[in-house]
Amino acid sequence: MIEVVSSNRCVNCSLCVKVCPTNVFDAGEDGVPVIARQEDCQTCFICEAYCPADALYVAPFADTLQQLGEEQLAETNTLGSWRETIGWGPGRVKLAEIDTTPFIDRILPSRS
Ligand code: SF4
Ligand code: SF4
Repeated sequence: MIEVVSSNRCVNCSLCVKVCPTNVFDAGEDGVPVIARQEDCQTCFICEAYCPADALYVAPFADTLQQLGEEQLAETNTLGSWRETIGWGPGRVKLAEIDTTPFIDRILPSRS
């Protein structure tokens, strides 16, 4: 579930507001998005993946809040860590480049 929007890191691009499929965010008056409907979060990580400033943290728990603070997340390099894991962002290795699982076989049409 979405847990934190870092006002220190946010560059007010509104990408997270636009890409969230369940309209969890409202645009804040100062440009920093507000988590307005946290209970609607689907834990899809899309907002964190798109955030160019690593200003978001989505916890990998859909039903329980972890209540981690921005300071703690920043200290442990956890803000934006999903984006880093999947290799989005300049200079990062894309997950698809190193993925060796046979997932692609499951989404391609059968050749038989
Ligand atoms: S994790 Fe998905 S559903 Fe939740 S706030 Fe981010 S984009 Fe919206
Ligand atoms: S995507 Fe990141 S930088 Fe852009 S508005 Fe959302 S939190 Fe701020």
